[in-house]
Amino acid sequence: MIVSGICHPPRSSEKRDASVQLLPSGQLQLVTELGQQEWSLTELEISKPLGNLPIKVTFPGGMQFIAHDSRSLERMLGAGKSSRLHRVERNIPMIAASLAAMLVVFVLMFTHGVPWLTGALVRVMPEQVPQLVGEHVLATLDEHMLEPSALTVSQQTAISDRFSRMNTNLPPLPVQPKLVFRRWGNGPNAMALSDGSVIVFDSLVELAETSEQLDSIILHELGHIQNQHVMKSLVRSTLLSAAVAVVTGESTGLIDTFSGIGVFLVTQGYSRTAEEEADEYAAGQMVRLYGSVVPMRQMFELLNETAGSGELPEWLSTHPELESRIEGLSQ
Ligand SMILES: [Zn+2]
Repeated sequence: MIVSGICHPPRSSEKRDASVQLLPSGQLQLVTELGQQEWSLTELEISKPLGNLPIKVTFPGGMQFIAHDSRSLERMLGAGKSSRLHRVERNIPMIAASLAAMLVVFVLMFTHGVPWLTGALVRVMPEQVPQLVGEHVLATLDEHMLEPSALTVSQQTAISDRFSRMNTNLPPLPVQPKLVFRRWGNGPNAMALSDGSVIVFDSLVELAETSEQLDSIILHELGHIQNQHVMKSLVRSTLLSAAVAVVTGESTGLIDTFSGIGVFLVTQGYSRTAEEEADEYAAGQMVRLYGSVVPMRQMFELLNETAGSGELPEWLSTHPELESRIEGLSQ
């Protein structure tokens, strides 16, 4: 459709014959005897229809167009608006692409952003935080799961003395480690807390046939402390809970979640990567201190046998892939 009318050059009362036409691209083309030019509708200033006053279209630069028949111009510009919708539809591949890009950013945030932020937060965290969290988690475990150790005082003293001596030969840890004895009905195990506590369970002491075997498990727990796995898991889980809370708008119970996660993590263990890091640390220190990983492998085998008898589901869930870890050490 072509709508004819007149146009005024900028700041002039001169009149020229002109016509406008809406192009398939959605642009408005102005044709005068001097030539033609196209603009997109968003660049134009279109006066509102007011009574019988004609609609004026002002082009960038000041040229004005007045149609002989305002209604047909109005209809044409109305069609122009819907053609803008068509343009959006034509852009669907682009919209899909930007949604995909957003998804990638979202995934990257979880795969890279959260780990980076976790590391950064754990680095700048005041040392009182892992201290308080560790104490709180131990108090909660004592209240609900653990009982005082039944080892004799001389047994505990012997292991503690050995632990102190071993400790002086280790590279400095982020927190000062200390040994804690407890009894737990869930099979031989040990746990590391964020404040540097290593909880050794009576059943683990009983299972170990030599002191070096027991040391290898303590070193594994020190590996978790060296790599700050406890605080990292805690911060990461809290960040993820916070992210879920922001996305879902559900923020109540976030504080409860925080302390709940602390207990959950130490009882449910870490990621496989974290376990491998702890194993690597333990194996490295075993070689440094005793010149061999054989006691560590023997200890894993003892634990595996206990697991095989069905008495040790916890150890397998907190320390998965025991078999492959034993094989890893044999190489
Ligand atoms: Zn572990």
